[in-house]
Amino acid sequence: MKKSFKLKFMIMRKVSSFLLVIAFIGTICNVHTFAGANQNEIVNKASVSDFTNGYKLSGKSLFTFIPHADFGDTSISHFNNALYQWNACLPTGVSGMNRSPTSRHTDTTYPRQDNINRIYRVANFSKTYVAQTTSWLNKSSKIRIEADINLNMRYKWSNGASSDTYDVWTVFLHEAGHVMGLRDLEDIDYVNRVMYYASTLGEKKRSVTSEERTLIQQIYG
Ligand SMILES: [Zn+2]
Repeated sequence: MKKSFKLKFMIMRKVSSFLLVIAFIGTICNVHTFAGANQNEIVNKASVSDFTNGYKLSGKSLFTFIPHADFGDTSISHFNNALYQWNACLPTGVSGMNRSPTSRHTDTTYPRQDNINRIYRVANFSKTYVAQTTSWLNKSSKIRIEADINLNMRYKWSNGASSDTYDVWTVFLHEAGHVMGLRDLEDIDYVNRVMYYASTLGEKKRSVTSEERTLIQQIYG
């Protein structure tokens, strides 16, 4: 039985005119023993809404993340690399996401609604998620206003995905996919996608798939 992370998408509660949405990763016992069905066949049968969470970025200005000051230089670099994976999917003229080149925060109260998109590193021993994204959404415009991402430091992390650690780039790439507007995929047929809900320790999945690129183009096209 391998330790894995699991990602769920939940509507928690309404916050004034905003909707607070939390997507989290938890540990589960999950053994990938099935051969997936033909992915293209699945994609052709499904509608775009089956893959999206209904809220996207404005696309008019960069959605900037501020990392916690205790992340190392390599992790901070890998945040940018992950965000670039999603940005590269966007149509010309649509702004995506970035990581601030200079700003860092020292906040430990995750999540915090303050119009600042923070990357946290809070150890949460009462929750089994490995990483979690909390979003604040404008219900009428369907635009994501703010997103905070926490990498749960109750688990071991690295920038290379050794056999007993989670890869910062891989997990952050998945969480950033929620910010872009994609939802978790729990069907084993999607095991190779970034947005697959579970992954084993040591897994590196650092590139957006062509199917996910197409989805982003459809959302923002
Ligand atoms: Zn997820």
